[in-house]
Amino acid sequence: MTARFGRMASLAALLAAAVAAAGLIEGVAVAAEPLAKTLFGAQKLPAVAAPQSIGFYSKGCFAGGVGIAPDGPHWQVMRQSRNRRWGHPRLIELIEALSQKAAKDGWNGLLIGDISQPRGGPMTTGHASHQVGLDADIWLMPMPAGRFTEAERETVSAVSMLKKGALTVDDRKWTPQHATLLRDAASFPEVERIFVHPGIKKKLCDTVTGDRSWLGKIRPYWGHDSHFHLRIGCQPGSPGCKPQPAIGRGDGCDTSLDWWFTDEPWRPATGPQKPRPRDVMTMASLPKECRAVLAAPAPESAAAATMALPPQGTIGAAPPAQASAFAPIPTGKVPLPTPRPTN
Ligand SMILES: [Zn+2]
Repeated sequence: MTARFGRMASLAALLAAAVAAAGLIEGVAVAAEPLAKTLFGAQKLPAVAAPQSIGFYSKGCFAGGVGIAPDGPHWQVMRQSRNRRWGHPRLIELIEALSQKAAKDGWNGLLIGDISQPRGGPMTTGHASHQVGLDADIWLMPMPAGRFTEAERETVSAVSMLKKGALTVDDRKWTPQHATLLRDAASFPEVERIFVHPGIKKKLCDTVTGDRSWLGKIRPYWGHDSHFHLRIGCQPGSPGCKPQPAIGRGDGCDTSLDWWFTDEPWRPATGPQKPRPRDVMTMASLPKECRAVLAAPAPESAAAATMALPPQGTIGAAPPAQASAFAPIPTGKVPLPTPRPTN
């Protein structure tokens, strides 16, 4: 925690520049204009259109979304009342395929947290991203042997993998199956990043043997100690989808990880509190196509827009080659954390 001030200062400057470049700090909204989170948060059903992600993970929307079924052979959707089980069809297929792969590897089903609102956009509460239908939160605890009831899905809490008050994993909670689940998730070419708490990343860095190439996709981030956040790349048919910079080639078990174990990332912000982007974003802040997404017709029911359960034994089949947005990873500079949450 010492003798790193020079580097930390430059990281902080780069981080600030990245925030500005990503356009995440908005001007103050005109009072009369409705907030985008209010308009998108009110959507009950997806926009009927060809599947398309528009904009960036933290500033966009999507059309042609589908829902994941509340219950599948190897998954359960948690917090159903939030109506955030919607995403780009490829993301939904991939979650289903992951559930199958993980089940084969001994994980008793996925507990699925927030994916996106039916038409994406800024959320009324919670995440800054999850706006373009390409992000999903999955709990770091397996489905119980008996399924959760609807009431339990609202109230049961995900368990932190960390030691109380520490930045490191509690070995009484962490198991090799957790590492296998994350490896399975990273194995899909479309998956570009998986966000976990730095303590979880550290645990993987310290324990994974054999092929470690997948560790590069595992990205340390604030929060994410009781769930991981799966992010796929822009999919074909989405010309307005803004990709993230490619990750570096390394496993990320380097000085960029050490930074998380200094005081700097955890120091409370000083100065006046900036408003959260979702609290100031209006439709003018989003790509203009998002207005058409809001205005698009809805399917006749949520069930009609929910992906049918696949016939037994077919989930986990290889996706068609053109579905992959994965490009070869160029050699990058040290990967920096993306902007820290303002809450
Ligand atoms: Zn998330």
